[in-house]
Amino acid sequence: MTELKGKGVCQGVARGEVCYIKKAAAEVERKRIYDIPSEAAKLNMAIEKAREQLKELEKKVKKSDKNSAMIFDVHQMMLYDPDFTGDIEKYIAENEVCAEYAVMQTAKKYAKMLEDMPNPYMQERAGDVTDIAERLVNILTENEYKPAMHGRVIIAADDLSPSETASFSRENILGIIIKNGSSTSHTSILARTMDIPAIINVDGLDNSIDGKTVFIDGSEGKVYVEPDEVTSAVMEKKAQLESIKKERLMRLKGKETVTRDGRKIELYANISTAADIDAAILNDAEGIGLFRSEFMYLDRKTLPTDDELFEVYKSIAAKIKDKPVIIRTLDIGADKQAPSLGLPKEENPALGFRAIRICLERTDIFKTQLRAIYRASAYGNIYIMLPMITSEVEVIQAKAIMLDVRDELRSESIEFKEVPVGIMVETPAAAVISDKLSKIVDFFSVGTNDLTQYTLAADRQNPKLSNLYSVENEAVLRLIETAAENIHKEGKWIGICGEAAADPRLLKRFLDMGIDELSVSSGYVLGVREMIRMS
Ligand code: PEP
Ligand code: MG
Repeated sequence: MTELKGKGVCQGVARGEVCYIKKAAAEVERKRIYDIPSEAAKLNMAIEKAREQLKELEKKVKKSDKNSAMIFDVHQMMLYDPDFTGDIEKYIAENEVCAEYAVMQTAKKYAKMLEDMPNPYMQERAGDVTDIAERLVNILTENEYKPAMHGRVIIAADDLSPSETASFSRENILGIIIKNGSSTSHTSILARTMDIPAIINVDGLDNSIDGKTVFIDGSEGKVYVEPDEVTSAVMEKKAQLESIKKERLMRLKGKETVTRDGRKIELYANISTAADIDAAILNDAEGIGLFRSEFMYLDRKTLPTDDELFEVYKSIAAKIKDKPVIIRTLDIGADKQAPSLGLPKEENPALGFRAIRICLERTDIFKTQLRAIYRASAYGNIYIMLPMITSEVEVIQAKAIMLDVRDELRSESIEFKEVPVGIMVETPAAAVISDKLSKIVDFFSVGTNDLTQYTLAADRQNPKLSNLYSVENEAVLRLIETAAENIHKEGKWIGICGEAAADPRLLKRFLDMGIDELSVSSGYVLGVREMIRMS
């Protein structure tokens, strides 16, 4: 048995076979080959396998998202294009090189050709050619990307992007272990949202773990590779105790979230996709305190339409009945990048063109989202929340756009309700001027993940700064305290939706500040309810 140590970011014990995800090598080696017909046969087999994979993927994704599934159809069509596949074969023969090298070189040529075309749709196809090439290279080099394709597995990787994590289906994943990462990166947040045991910064993790059986302990941050009998028995006992705890917490369903002296705290759940709503309901969340709406924009080549967004918002609102659903408008930026927006790479994306800054400039995108939100408001209890606010002007501009959207809907006789508008307090600026902001918005929610990084000038993604990056730092807590005082003076409410909302070490401090609402990952709702009822 080998024991690896990391940092637990989502509690729970899991046992399973590891599927190590390797990314496609950006550069492949140029290998000289002499047997050209066998190399061409190898290529054709890889093309066949890629088509099968894409057909499977299309089928799987179609079940939840028809539009996103279309991309896999486009990829299959490209693999049937005789010009493209013929050029790869020609490259092998003319240059006497291995198939993977020929794939990459041919793909680069096609991608460049497409990028240079005047039509934006054709330009976007360049990314598809690269995707297909990487898939073929992975197959040819047996470096396969095979998440969740072989039953239920524990996913291991050097790193995972938020969109990769979001693309896994919950039922196929028993746990996640990552070599890098940070606890407030969106990959860790997604693991908590899906309530999957997860460990980051796993020292010594590499692809030799692939296919091995492990036990992972999310609360201790430990990975036991090929566990011995004693360790297996201890872990099984721990898993048993955890399920007893879960059963105990389940008995709190339907109970009020009140402190011992009778103060009611609103206890909501954070979600990132429409599928997360079921876990929120199962865990008896009293509403959705943060819907990270940007996840619908991440893993796709085109922007979602008004109708598509509307259907998702409406289904969430309808499922959770009349409980509040706080939709945070598009918060693209930093580790959440959306290729469909076509934004250039930035040196310093956390401080860059992101979130509300994008929305106030790309008003077409913002308006489409707002239109969908207002249309869905007729079917539930919807709130709008603006991310990354640093000034009153941003709120005023955003509200003016909302006014336009409402006028348009009225002129088309489309029904909508009045929707409360709030903001995230995730920049020190927003906390400092919360006295002014509370005159122009209806509610606030503290995004402690970003507020901590911006207050302490410590990148939330950088594991080297994990000692410095602490929400318990007095500077961060005082900013929240100031905001709470200012906001309550204006008679408005303040919640917390960053990861700190579920932190037992901070609960008392938050209650003393008079925080009105806490929004946490679904798996934490009942645990927080228990703590509040004992406070
Ligand atoms: C936060 O910053 O605390 C927050 C809730 O938003 P996100 O984690 O999505 O940046
Ligand atoms: Mg944030």
